[in-house]
Amino acid sequence: MQNHSHEEIEKHIDESIEKETIFLNFQPKVFISSGLVCGYEALLRLPLLNGMYVQPSQVINIAEQNGKILEIGAFVIREVCFYIRMLDQLGIRIPISVNVSVPQFMNRGFFEYIESQFDFFGIRHLGYLLEIELTESMMIHDPETVISVLSKLNNLGIKLAIDDFGVGYSSLNQLKRLPVDHLKIDKSFVENIETSEKDRFVIKAIISLAHEFGMTVIAEGIENRHQADWLLNAGCEMGQGFLFGKPKPFNEISKTRLSIVAS
Ligand code: C2E
Ligand code: MG
Ligand code: MG
Repeated sequence: MQNHSHEEIEKHIDESIEKETIFLNFQPKVFISSGLVCGYEALLRLPLLNGMYVQPSQVINIAEQNGKILEIGAFVIREVCFYIRMLDQLGIRIPISVNVSVPQFMNRGFFEYIESQFDFFGIRHLGYLLEIELTESMMIHDPETVISVLSKLNNLGIKLAIDDFGVGYSSLNQLKRLPVDHLKIDKSFVENIETSEKDRFVIKAIISLAHEFGMTVIAEGIENRHQADWLLNAGCEMGQGFLFGKPKPFNEISKTRLSIVAS
């Protein structure tokens, strides 16, 4: 399959924003023990380009370089606030997480934007249903700013997850100072559960660290029963992956899986 060039993707991003054809897919997060859905992660999608799929990670990478991430990020937050309100009107309260890029998070006005969307949709009392996923790379930035924004988000009830944990630059000294609710174990470790003892050690260490800090653990990229069983046995409470459900447009998940009402 031929890859798209940087320029092609850049143009496609601009057109998709302009024509409002960017959209979100939602992937379930489940309690591994029961398979019950405990939340969804919103994942960015662009329409096909010349009939081909464009990797979201490539889109995000380019958008971070040219600044379009700010518009994309605002769209994602607005859209998820809309769904939180819509679901609440149907009597369903389920957490939805959004991925937040470092430049988006560090941009002045990030917190105020979320607050304005909460007010616009009248969901201030449902703040606990919004989760933000940040990667470890956020920790290399000005710690005081990071902590101050996170504590403001925390005051709104918003939950925080560290995404792709274990593959980036991780400062445990900073981690202990942050109001983190969940650690998401990167899928590269999960992928190797069957073949690598070292990866199994790393997973166990992450789980133990998270629990000592009072955080819960979500394993990403679970594709088979063996991985799920091993993770459950190792003390990992939540999971996400093709075994439980692929990312899908909202109208497809709502029919089948939106049955759990979060407390
Ligand atoms: P992520 O946040 O770690 O999201 C998980 C990725 O793993 C998603 O890829 C998901 O489709 C994929 N995945 C889920 N289950 C499995 C599995 O069982 N096996 C495998 N092989 N993959 C699985 P996706 O949607 O391509 O997104 C890639 C990355 O792009 C995300 O990684 C996130 O870092 C970034 N991203 C996606 N949407 C957004 C967004 O709205 N904003 C920002 N800033 N970044 C986003
Ligand atoms: Mg994520
Ligand atoms: Mg991840």
